[in-house]
Amino acid sequence: MRILITGAAGFLGSHLCDRLLEEGHSVVGMDNFITGSPDNISHLAGNTHFEFYRHDVANFIYVQGKIDAVLHFASPASPNPGSPYGYPNLPIQTMKAGALGTHNSLGVARANSAKFLLASTSEIYGDPEVHPQSESYWGHADPIGFRSVYDEAKRFAEALTMAYHRYHGLDTRIVRIFNTYGPRMRLDDGRVVPNFLQQAIKHQPLTIYGDGSQTRSFCFVDDLVSGIYNLLLSDEHLPVNIGNPQETSILEFAETINRIAGSSAGIAFFPDKRLGDDPQRRQPDINRARNLLHWEPSTALEDGIKMTLQYFKDQLGQ
Ligand code: NAD
Ligand code: UDP
Repeated sequence: MRILITGAAGFLGSHLCDRLLEEGHSVVGMDNFITGSPDNISHLAGNTHFEFYRHDVANFIYVQGKIDAVLHFASPASPNPGSPYGYPNLPIQTMKAGALGTHNSLGVARANSAKFLLASTSEIYGDPEVHPQSESYWGHADPIGFRSVYDEAKRFAEALTMAYHRYHGLDTRIVRIFNTYGPRMRLDDGRVVPNFLQQAIKHQPLTIYGDGSQTRSFCFVDDLVSGIYNLLLSDEHLPVNIGNPQETSILEFAETINRIAGSSAGIAFFPDKRLGDDPQRRQPDINRARNLLHWEPSTALEDGIKMTLQYFKDQLGQ
């Protein structure tokens, strides 16, 4: 297939480019570098199966030649207002990438009679009242909270994707991605994994927002990419959760990071930095992925963290 990936210079997009090229496909990457980096795809320069367009997907998308699949990943993804790359500081761009960007990406797919895959998110469940979260749960999201620019854009994107499927008969997929980590995350995007690893490498206390009782379930990027690839090759049109169901509190996670990194600088608590709509518990129910895609994650947290730690050490010249 010849596959268009929006957000190709980002963390997940660049790993998808690598995997699809390895599988023998041709890849057209597209990005405007608002939160991504050319460094993430620089190793693909000179690969005759890879092309790149620098473009903002909020504007009409034109790609020369036939496209067989469109994977729409372009969107800021960090909720941290302390980082210039966090979506609270890019609110209009975030809504435009999720709304106009999804519309334009669907348009390319439709014009080419191509498959379309939307990168959705566990954030569509908001601060969930059901645990673990299965795809049948409609969510508990605040339409005007700090995270709303992201959550509502993704909810709109899912609705628009289903509209194209039902009305135009487009061959669509929706993946609801839960917290994923690994090499090529931006050091300064403010998400918990780069923050904690960077702090541990520098022997600084890990900054916990709130009391650390909130939970997340962290998936290593290679596992996520395998799940997404299986979904692309499947016939499933309804949303599928992809993530690692191993749940941990942020406090336990901080202790794990300090142990693996060998840091004795401890933990510092910042109650005021925890935003009002920060989900208290998050854990994917992955039964649909197991049954439909014959997929489940296989990388232990400890192993994934060690690989990511090494990446950040290299980035920091340590
Ligand atoms: P990222 O910030 O590393 O990657 C996003 C990429 O999209 C960046 O390269 C950015 O420059 C690009 N981009 C943003 N707006 C654009 C625009 N208007 N036009 C062109 N390019 C644009 O983040 P990521 O973690 O790789 O996330 C990728 C996708 O996966 C996002 O859609 C995100 O919502 C989704 N997602 C990620 C996670 C996760 O844990 N990493 C979880 C849920 C959903
Ligand atoms: N968090 C934290 N310290 C940090 C960064 C984040 O305690 O330095 C918390 C954050 O409040 C949230 C969790 O870690 O409860 C995960 O945050 P992240 O930004 O990675 O993404 P989220 O899962 O909230 O979208």
